[in-house]
Amino acid sequence: MRPLLLGAEPLLSDKGIPVINPATGKAIDTVAAADEALVEQAAERAREAHAKLAAQPLRERAKVLLRAAELLQERSEEIARLLALEAGKPIRDARVEVLRAASVFRLAAEEARFVLEGKVHRVDAYDYPPGNEQRLVMEVREPLGVIAAVLPFNFPANSFAHKVAPNLAAGNAVLVKPASATPLTALEMGRLLYEAGLVPGSLSVLPGSGAVVGEALVRSRHVDGITFTGSTQVGLRLASEAAARGKRLMMELGGSDPIVVLEDADLERAVKVALRARFEYAGQNCNAGKRILVQASIFERFASAYAEGARALRLGDPLDEGCEMGPVISAEALQRLEEYLAEAVARGAKLLTGGTRALEQGFYYAPTVLAHVPPEAKAMREEVFGPLAPLSSFESEAEAVEVANATHYGLQAAIFTRDLGRALRLARQLRAGGVMINDSTRLRWDALPFGGVKLSGLGGREGVRSTIYGMTEPKIISLNLAP
Ligand code: NAP
Repeated sequence: MRPLLLGAEPLLSDKGIPVINPATGKAIDTVAAADEALVEQAAERAREAHAKLAAQPLRERAKVLLRAAELLQERSEEIARLLALEAGKPIRDARVEVLRAASVFRLAAEEARFVLEGKVHRVDAYDYPPGNEQRLVMEVREPLGVIAAVLPFNFPANSFAHKVAPNLAAGNAVLVKPASATPLTALEMGRLLYEAGLVPGSLSVLPGSGAVVGEALVRSRHVDGITFTGSTQVGLRLASEAAARGKRLMMELGGSDPIVVLEDADLERAVKVALRARFEYAGQNCNAGKRILVQASIFERFASAYAEGARALRLGDPLDEGCEMGPVISAEALQRLEEYLAEAVARGAKLLTGGTRALEQGFYYAPTVLAHVPPEAKAMREEVFGPLAPLSSFESEAEAVEVANATHYGLQAAIFTRDLGRALRLARQLRAGGVMINDSTRLRWDALPFGGVKLSGLGGREGVRSTIYGMTEPKIISLNLAP
């Protein structure tokens, strides 16, 4: 059994969670699970450690993050393999994720000074309150205190980095609840931060079920803010509990990103990008291109090239260098895909390729393409978290915008066209946190704010600077210089 991290202390508990390799369906390890009492102990330690962390000079906190980035980089192969094993992510993508996580640590170390540097306000510009010409008014930023970070299964390293590094840089202590499916990477990254010299107690990694550990974190009086990435359904429930207790929120939720392909697009490029956007990590990315809307005049050409591309994807063991697509995370995820498929076909969608489980073991589903999926089908309205691409056609730009905007989600979107004026006009009409022109919905710049509108996000956007802003408080300090 792998120990959890109660502050800097590795701890075994009497309850373990099995970690399943989705490529085989077999357990590869067990991790110690936290319970409510352990969450409270971790939160108390975090509260104490926060005072020490916040008092540490910023350069010291930055040094720890830079050292952690170095260690992560040195051990990137080992951690990428662990990530690939527990998440079923192809090793090439797992490596990219770990290196990105290291760069998020570095960014946090570098960016904190700009957000935390504060200002002096020229209050002599204001009539009220009187006497401002005699005052020196400063604005400083202070950390919130203790932040609970609830992670999704699909980015065990990068989501950890985004929720932990900027907060530690800001002086917040962090309590991490990794997803039950992928706790191993988070535990490794936690250990590595302590090895880099982190103030003891200022980080705990607490595996355990969402209903026990997640809920206990939200209820803890020591927790000042929640940063959550996961499904909209769970996120909204947590948000309402957290808001009722007056806690700061940063909720990164689900998505059903549309890819709009207009008739003047570079078809080959649109097909290639939309294939990767949908099937990367077996379709389990928040900003995967989950609905593909193609103008009617080019629909059949697009659909046949797209289905051919999907058929050519190499499925296999995520640890094989040549693997392009691995399994989905669980048997339940497979079952959900089968339900989406059956429902869409019953409503008249045409199956172009896939539609079956694949390989003999593990949770593999063949890359699946459905054409002419009607707007009422669940695959067009909900978030399909797996390798199933619903294609539908539209006649006019107005129709494309209407269909693209027809879900509860609004994370990102993509438009393919050679007419930039048209692209910008459409980009303004799509309700999304980000619109990519002739590019993938999958783009995210770690240094920039990332998140969605409608039910794709709530509270602040995640990004290194924006997280530090979101998880700190401005404070005004006024000094009266009048004799
Ligand atoms: P999920 O089922 O909502 O789980 C996310 C986290 O919440 C897990 O740690 C889970 O713990 C925990 N949880 C579950 N029930 C809870 C409860 N009642 N109280 C507190 N915590 C609870 O999501 P997922 O399947 O891991 O991740 C996929 C989802 O994340 C997709 O919807 C995807 O779009 C979204 N996502 C969004 C972004 C973004 O930036 N917007 C990025 C990545 C992923 P257990 O694992 O123990 O259940």
